[in-house]
Amino acid sequence: MKRVYVNEELCMGCGLCEVYCAVQHSKSRDLLKAFKRETPKPVSRIKLLQEKPVSFPVQCKSCRDPLCVSACLSGAMHVDEKTGSVIHDEERCIGCLTCVMVCPIGAVRINPNNSETVIKCDLCQGSEIPACVKFCPNEALTLEER
Ligand code: SF4
Ligand code: SF4
Repeated sequence: MKRVYVNEELCMGCGLCEVYCAVQHSKSRDLLKAFKRETPKPVSRIKLLQEKPVSFPVQCKSCRDPLCVSACLSGAMHVDEKTGSVIHDEERCIGCLTCVMVCPIGAVRINPNNSETVIKCDLCQGSEIPACVKFCPNEALTLEER
C-alpha cells in the first residue's frame, strides 16, 4: 500500500501540513471558516517536530505489523481490508489510550476536543492524495509504495 514518506532535507518547518490536515478534518473544509468560525477548532493528525535545523512531520505509517491494532482492547484500531491502512473507529474506542502508549513513533494522540478518544492520520479517507502531501509547498511529503 501507499504510505506518506518524509524527506526531512526538504522540510522547512512551515507547518502547512498541520494547517491543511486540520482543514481537511474540519466541518467546512474551508481554511478561514475552519479556524475562525468552527467550534471545536479543527485538529491536525500530523505533528511537526522541530529540533533546529531539522524539521520532521510525524504521522501514522500504517505499519505492516501494527502494535496499536494488536494492543487495542475494543477493536477500534483496525486494518482496513480494502486499503490495508490502519484506521481508528471513534465509535468503538473506549479511550483506554493503550494505542497512544504502544505506537513506537507517537502517531496516536489524545483527541484535544474529546479526551475520551484518540486521533491519528487516516490518510484523508476518501481523498486520492492526503492534504499534507497535496499542500506541502516544498514537496517534502510524498505518497508512495516502497
Ligand atoms: S498508529 Fe503507530 S503503531 Fe499504529 S499503525 Fe500507525 S505508526 Fe504503526
Ligand atoms: S484508546 Fe481506543 S483505539 Fe486506542 S487502544 Fe484504547 S480502545 Fe483502542
